[in-house]
Amino acid sequence: MISALLPNYARADLAFERGEGAWLWTVDGRRFLDFGSGIATASLGHGHPHLVKAIADQAAKVMHTSNLYRIPQAERLAQRLVEATFADSVFFCNSGAEANEGMIKMMRRAMSDAGKPERFRLICFEGAFHGRTLATLAATGNAKYLEGFGPVVEGFDHVPFNNMNAVRNAIGSGTCGIIVEPIQGEGGVRPADLQFLRDLRAVCDEFGIILGMDEVQSGMGRTGKLFAHEWAGITPDVMSAAKGIGGGFPLGAVLAKEQFAKALKPGTHGTTFGGNPLACAAGNAVLDVILAPGFLEDVQRKGRKLRSELDAVAREFPTVFADARGMGLLLGLKCVLPQGQVQAACVAEGLMAITAGDNVLRLAPPLVVTDSDIEQGVAMLRRAAATCAAEARAGAR
Ligand SMILES: *Cc1c(COP(=O)(O)O)cnc(C)c1O
Repeated sequence: MISALLPNYARADLAFERGEGAWLWTVDGRRFLDFGSGIATASLGHGHPHLVKAIADQAAKVMHTSNLYRIPQAERLAQRLVEATFADSVFFCNSGAEANEGMIKMMRRAMSDAGKPERFRLICFEGAFHGRTLATLAATGNAKYLEGFGPVVEGFDHVPFNNMNAVRNAIGSGTCGIIVEPIQGEGGVRPADLQFLRDLRAVCDEFGIILGMDEVQSGMGRTGKLFAHEWAGITPDVMSAAKGIGGGFPLGAVLAKEQFAKALKPGTHGTTFGGNPLACAAGNAVLDVILAPGFLEDVQRKGRKLRSELDAVAREFPTVFADARGMGLLLGLKCVLPQGQVQAACVAEGLMAITAGDNVLRLAPPLVVTDSDIEQGVAMLRRAAATCAAEARAGAR
């Protein structure tokens, strides 16, 4: 008989009761170091006092009023995001897929409003992940995820990542724009070359098409900049954010320059929960921490520290790992052994890591991870790697 909770996930048999910083305790009292952050989402770790208080205080006042009325918490959060980014205006929603849906609709509508409704096609990349709704699945383009769900939403063209010739060849009279992740998270922690991002900006300007960035995973401080595209010194026209933006509270956003944002006039798009007082109180509390002086610089420093440790571990265990990759605190180890085996060995040592495409073990600790947490995590990873290397030797005999 089917379980009451729909079994659409392959869940590990671990249930957590409480957390503090980068640590989580199971209902049966075991302690784990969380280097997955609920898939790069619990950006402030667990039980962060400032975030907890902001949510509790707002919940006690008013949680939800709907977008029929003004929402001061949303106005404030949007204003702060506008001041901190390229964007002139922000739309709030509840998830990454919903943010990407909003971004896709905004891009197409802006092109239509400019008198070119025939330009609705979007160029996306092999290895991308943009979500599980019907349009974002089409943007993701992964045949395995699309199978059995009926006609694929029309208008998405896929080309190899980091390949400018392929992008130029794909641009046609029906092209609306390009959607790119500055780092492919689900696809295997694969960074876009910074020059590739600059070239995408240039080609969009050259052809008068729209540059959209999916920063759902790479944004909100994850790479040590507020958004990862900043490393390339360019700005997109439109951008999606989610995951870390609410520190674990469901919140998504579309950020855009005025020229594109104005396409979503009253009546063109909407969502019931999006940007409600509770979600935006969480978003503002996350920003209080991330935008505090020195916080992002410290994420960069901790990212370099963890990355150099991962490089060392990869060199020490060449039968387990091929190399380390990623930026800031969005890091990965390309595995030689099956990633699931390495992940299980980490869990046995008390370290929660997550997997990604391309046989990569993904490490995305909370942005508030401490130096001591990093050192303990690396020690657990080293013991897990030693176990896996021994298993590989035994298997070879
Ligand atoms: C997780 C993710 C999404 C989807 O977000 P959901 O909140 O799961 O809908 C979209 N794009 C990227 C880059 C992601 O990492």
